[in-house]
Amino acid sequence: MGIHDNPAMTNTTTRSFDTLGLNPATLDNLRQLGYLTMTPIQAASLPTALAGKDLIAQAQTGSGKTAAFGLALLERLNPRRFAVQALVLCPTRELADQVAVEVRRLARALDNIKVVTLCGGVALRGQRASLENGAHIVVGTPGRVMDHLARGYLALDALTTLVLDEADRMLDMGFLDDIVTVTKQCPPERQTLLFSATYPEGIEKLAKQFMRSPEQVTVADGTAKSLIEQRFYEVTRPTRFEVVARLLNHFRPVSTLAFCNTKQQCKDLVTYLQQQGFSALALYGELEQRERDQVLAQFANRSTSVLVATDVASRGIDIKELSAVINVDITPDPEVHVHRIGRTGRAGESGLALSLAAMYEMGAVGKIEQYQKLPSTWYKVDELTPTGKGPLLPPMVTLQILGGRKEKIRPGDVLGALTADAGFSREQIGKIVVTEFTTFVAVQRDIARLAMDKLNAGKVKGKSVRVRLLGT
Ligand code: AMP
Repeated sequence: MGIHDNPAMTNTTTRSFDTLGLNPATLDNLRQLGYLTMTPIQAASLPTALAGKDLIAQAQTGSGKTAAFGLALLERLNPRRFAVQALVLCPTRELADQVAVEVRRLARALDNIKVVTLCGGVALRGQRASLENGAHIVVGTPGRVMDHLARGYLALDALTTLVLDEADRMLDMGFLDDIVTVTKQCPPERQTLLFSATYPEGIEKLAKQFMRSPEQVTVADGTAKSLIEQRFYEVTRPTRFEVVARLLNHFRPVSTLAFCNTKQQCKDLVTYLQQQGFSALALYGELEQRERDQVLAQFANRSTSVLVATDVASRGIDIKELSAVINVDITPDPEVHVHRIGRTGRAGESGLALSLAAMYEMGAVGKIEQYQKLPSTWYKVDELTPTGKGPLLPPMVTLQILGGRKEKIRPGDVLGALTADAGFSREQIGKIVVTEFTTFVAVQRDIARLAMDKLNAGKVKGKSVRVRLLGT
């Protein structure tokens, strides 16, 4: 690539954030967030990024990459200047939302930094108003950011940092032209930080066209990835679904992301798992945004055990504490395999990646071995024993409140109704997600019915609400 190669620092280098010369308030905040040492990708990229140099970093979701660029862009930001100084382009709305959440967390010790997300599927008008109210940082998808530029709602002349997050996926999704259009409107002296899990040819072209002598960092194999335990199982076409059920009963993961190669396979597997008494939902391309939000809310709040997804539909999902990934079908593309298994075992947690392969998929397994430079370890299906603990049930149940942002409901109102009014403890309540018209609240399984009855009988934000249980 003609780019200086700088393999990740090893553990001989200090991994403390103190060595970076960060703002003391930020350092304090990192300690409060429990970020005690840098992750390998942070150790490898922060010195370069903080020095203002362009950077190409190879990093998976879960490696701590958001903080790697987030800390760098925050350090350069002038809170008193009310203009967009950093732009982060992401492939999907979900990822943009997660990046915005993480950047806000990292910024909370600094003066009133405004982060605005600009993604499709939402009216332009509200986004325009947020921009007019002043934004320091914009996080968005290329198409929508381009729209705002074209209409003159967004100006990038004060931009100091441009981040391309999951650049390979943005290219996969056909965003190249949009990225080029947006990048051309950024000041030429800005810093560009590019994060990508893989380096297809398009990335090199993008870098040549828009980056200035970028440093390249990769995290040596075996650091981030070693926390993922990969197990392969030989199956036949007719036994595949049954083996998925046996794996779930054997390992009993709280949250499993199961990948299939086709939408039909996803639907069939979900039907099978539901018949077997598992709590499983499917995520595939054609779901409406509303259905997609509902499925993701139920999986993220641990009230659904298994999410069965195609690769395309799963893009950008970032579910913390994903205990297992199951490759129900082996993907013919080894890079996709690495993306899939990278969803588990994040930020220091250990994860389980289980792959099912029939004879006709052994060629694909061979390609994966070559790509990972790792022989696969095979286990016997016969050794999978049910634990005898009864069906695998998710720890939480989702209550759906018919009412959301339109009714001015906020998470605190729901929490108040359940704790102060209904007398539940904070620990019995899980994630609360408020969308435009509806609110999802996770509660512990054993109080679900009672919680629903109490909410239906009581009030949220001074008003009666209608509440139902989802998926039970
Ligand atoms: P990311 O790869 O940016 O999606 O980050 C994955 C997760 O790791 C996020 O939940 C972060 O909050 C968390 N994280 C990032 N950096 C650190 C760190 N240095 N120590 C502990 N957790 C971290």
